[in-house]
Amino acid sequence: MPVDATLPYDDQNIFAKILRGEIPNRTVYEDEWALAFHDINPQAPIHILVIPKGAYVSWDDFSAKASEAEIAGFIRAVGHVAREQGLVAPGYRLLANAGINSHQEVPHLHVHLFGGKALGPMLL
Ligand code: C5P
Repeated sequence: MPVDATLPYDDQNIFAKILRGEIPNRTVYEDEWALAFHDINPQAPIHILVIPKGAYVSWDDFSAKASEAEIAGFIRAVGHVAREQGLVAPGYRLLANAGINSHQEVPHLHVHLFGGKALGPMLL
């Protein structure tokens, strides 16, 4: 079910539980600002989710409330994972769903990182 991204942050969402270590994940990278792990239902040969450690529902929530350090740290982490996964030369796609029309399912900001094959033109 898509989530209403205007609701307050729900600390029982599944990515909050992953950040607290209550649910296992296949971590590929972690630093002070971000956690990156393999999507449980991959849509491409490489499908990684990168999430900020702070409690933000969506990109607009994050950009409005996060500190400069959190924003810089998160964006750097996304780029770091893309480089570390060897995706720079072949290319990759980033995607962040927000709210009902995008069918966001988990109400904690996450960037999907897709790669490992020719992804084709983006289709809505
Ligand atoms: O952008 P959206 O909210 O729709 O994507 C949520 C993603 O979180 C899905 O790709 C889903 O497979 C993934 N997921 C996960 N591990 C979970 C629950 C969901 O990787 N435990």
